[in-house]
This record gives sequence, C-alpha cells and structure tokens, in this order.
Amino acid sequence: MLKTINNFDLKNKRVLIRVDFNVPLLDGVVTDDFRIRMALPTINHCLELGASVVLMSHLGRPKGQIVPELSLISVGEKLAELIELPIKFSDDCVSEDARDVSLGLRPGEIHLLENLRYHKEETENDLRFSELLSKHGEVYINDAFGTAHRPHASNVGVTQYFLHKGIGFLFEKELQYLSAVIKKPQRPMTLVLGGAKIDSKLKLINKFIDEADNIIIGGGMAFTFLKAKGIDVGGSLVDESMLKTASKIIEKSRNVNKRLQFPVDVIVAKSLDDIKSICELKIDNIPETMSGFDIGSATIKKYSKLLMSSKTIVWNGPMGVFEKPEFNNGTLRIAEIMTKAKEEGSIVIVGGGDTAAAVKSYNLIDQMSHVSTGGGASLELLSGNRLPSIEALGG
Ligand code: AMP
Repeated sequence: MLKTINNFDLKNKRVLIRVDFNVPLLDGVVTDDFRIRMALPTINHCLELGASVVLMSHLGRPKGQIVPELSLISVGEKLAELIELPIKFSDDCVSEDARDVSLGLRPGEIHLLENLRYHKEETENDLRFSELLSKHGEVYINDAFGTAHRPHASNVGVTQYFLHKGIGFLFEKELQYLSAVIKKPQRPMTLVLGGAKIDSKLKLINKFIDEADNIIIGGGMAFTFLKAKGIDVGGSLVDESMLKTASKIIEKSRNVNKRLQFPVDVIVAKSLDDIKSICELKIDNIPETMSGFDIGSATIKKYSKLLMSSKTIVWNGPMGVFEKPEFNNGTLRIAEIMTKAKEEGSIVIVGGGDTAAAVKSYNLIDQMSHVSTGGGASLELLSGNRLPSIEALGG
C-alpha cells in the first residue's frame, strides 16, 4: 500500500527525498521558484521531526553529461534563501564524498545532490546507480510529482533498496486532487483544453469524452478541429497529421451526445509580430492572410457561462499565445472566471507547465483549488493511466 510521509517515525533518521527542482534558470539564476516552494512543506516536516534531509533532483536534459549551466548549485542557493538554513552541496550525486556528507549529517541539516541526469544511468533506471543513490538515506520519500510518469532510478529503481518508503505532501496533494477528479467528480464537470499540440492531449480527450459533461477547446489546437469540421481557418496553426483524428473525436462526441465547444470568434493578425493587423473576427471569416492567436470576446462569454455552471473544472493548455500581451486576454479572462467559479464552490484544477505558468503570471495560483506541478504526470493520471513511480511504492 502507498504510504505517505506521515506514516514514518523520522526522528534522527536520514531522509532521502526525490524532489522536483527542475526550475527555469536564466544566467544561472532561478527565475521561477514555484517548484522549490512547493517542496518546502515536506522538507520542513522532516527537519521539525528531528531528521536530516538529503535532496536529489534532475534539472533539464544534460543526457548523461556534466553541463555546468544545468547545475543545481543556484537552486541550492535559492533553497537556502527560502528555508533560511545553510545547504550542504555535493557536485556528484553518487560519489563517495557525497555519501560521506550524507552519513555525517546531523538532525536538522540538509544536503543537496548535484543534477541526477549528469549520469545517464538515472533515466535508464539502472539498478547499480539506484543502489548508490539509496546509500544516502534510511527512509525514502518521493515528492517529485513532475517526473512521476517516468520510470527512472531516483523514483523507481531506488525504491527496491528501502524498507521505509512513501510519498511527500506535495505528491499526496497532487494525487488527492487528480484522483478525486477521475473517481468521483462533482458534476457538471468541464474539461478545458488549449495550447498548440493535440497529440499530447489525445488520451485526455478520449477519456473525458466519456466522463466530462463539457469539453471546451481553445488555443492553437482548436484550429485543427475547426478545419476538420470544414471551416477555413486561414493561416492559423493546423496539425495536418491530426485532421483525421480530430474528425474521429468530433464524430465520437456526437455518438455519445457530448458537445465539444469551439471558439466562435478569434483574435487574428497577419503574424505574431504584426501588431497593427490585429483584429477580432467571426470564426468562419478568417482570410487566408490572417492567423488566429487568441479566442475572441464572444467565445470568452460563451465559455464563461459554461464554466460558471460547472462544479468541477480541469484546465490544460492556454487559450492563445499568452506569452505575447496582445494575445494574452483569452487565457487571462478564462483564468479569472475559473477563480470566480472556485469562489462559488467549484473545484478548479490546473495542469500543465504552460497553463501553470500563465496562472502564475496572473498571480492567481492561490485562487485555484490546485495547480499541478507536473504537466505530463497530471495528464497521465487524469487520462486514467498508472504512474510507474506510484506502482514502485506499492500504490
Ligand atoms: P502545449 O504545449 O501544447 O500546451 O502548447 C502551449 C503553447 O501553445 C503556448 O506556448 C502558446 O503560445 C501556444 N498557443 C496557444 N494558442 C495558440 C495559437 N492560437 N496559435 C499558436 N500557438 C498557440
């Protein structure tokens, strides 16, 4: 059975925690500390109970090479600042020196290991590497929901070497919200999808087409569906390879009597940078020279009405190119409506890296019921798939 951190006596124990410190860096400085802050409750809990803590994480994709720009040193500095404690740091996660530092930890001390993916064995789920990692602790806690869908050494292989193992508070909160949505959602339930790629959200659509009461589609992916419906979308983003799939989804939604909701108007421009050409058009009125980069005002109104009548909302993918202020309005308005829905008692779950980043930029994270730290992992879980790291812990 899957155990949580509250199941363990941690006094004087060394706790090895797999955290997700895969944060954005610019010139060696952490530009978004959301994931670090989300790991603090578990770390603080261990320290308060008289444990010492060894933290391990990956950062980016160094592919088994030492890439200095992907060092966790600056993450350690940020952590020290947030937790107001000094952090010991080892520049190789499995060296003897690193192990000695862990063995010498006193209660209340923290040891951060260098990027796990400097060793290719991490992503290969190599058992010898897993065993070396396991030497750092007596209790193993996985609090890295962001990588929960990947079978790696630090979240799958390593668990073989621990008797006492389980998940941390962040992981637990993710499961609590995401599993509740799959098992017993309050209805009506609405899935809101956006972003550019359809293929990464296919499994989710297929699952929710049976389960959700409404599916709202925005962002670039809407245009592939609209084109499949025979609407001329001008130069808007269309994934030609997904047209057939989109048609099948539309057909299936008809068969199960579920309405897929598409934009009725869009904000278009000749190109992303041609600000002068920006205007709002009805969806069936896009000329060949224009592309849709955000949902329009009538669409926002239509979607808002549906959202306000929903009791559960799951959101993955921005409504437009939110990174550009000119095309940010749709995503912002939809985020604001969701906070209103939440205020009125609905459960609002936001998943996906871009969507979480958008919500964060609007300072609305605390106004949602749950903003998932793991894009891929939350998609997998919501699609009804089992996550290897949970299975490895007996869940
Ligand atoms: P995804 O990774 O599939 O969730 O896509 C996220 C990206 O979709 C963001 O970077 C958005 O800028 C982009 N996006 C959203 N709407 C559009 C659109 N109408 N056209 C092109 N890209 C879009």
